[in-house]
Amino acid sequence: AERHGESVEVEEVRTAGVVPDCDLLLMPGGESTTISRLLRDEGIAEEIRAFAAGGKPMLVTCAGLIVAARDAKDERVETLDILDVTVDRNAFGRQKDSFEAMLDVDGLAEPFPAVFIRAPAIDEVDDGVDVLCEIDGRPVAVRQDNVIGTSFHPELTEDSRIHGVAFFE
Ligand code: GLN
Repeated sequence: AERHGESVEVEEVRTAGVVPDCDLLLMPGGESTTISRLLRDEGIAEEIRAFAAGGKPMLVTCAGLIVAARDAKDERVETLDILDVTVDRNAFGRQKDSFEAMLDVDGLAEPFPAVFIRAPAIDEVDDGVDVLCEIDGRPVAVRQDNVIGTSFHPELTEDSRIHGVAFFE
């Protein structure tokens, strides 16, 4: 596929041995308890930690953000600790389980259509992590070196500017 002027070959990661050969990594939404269990059981968790430590670009969204965090405050989620934040799962309350908002994101000239689906809020943000976007005073997009994390789902919209910033800038 052509993305941001680059030709990209997409691989799905379901087993060990794929991540080490990738140049970019997207950890998408889903169910963080399930994702973290699979990553551990399949031996992928260590590969992702090494990938992040190697400075390669990563984008982690929603459940992916939860799994990447230092702490998800939920013993069912074994986090990878590659992003120095803590998260509150499902922090955006029930009546707002899913919603869309146009948000200002640092580094983007125009507001971004952010889709929130049972989204986590980012709670503690350690030194070295930049907040790129907030909603009601709560961080929902952060960057730490080569890793960008969002509470919302840029992968579910046609707008690929956040992928562009994460992967191609
Ligand atoms: N609430 C989910 C979780 O805790 C994340 C939801 C999502 O990725 N859309 O894993």
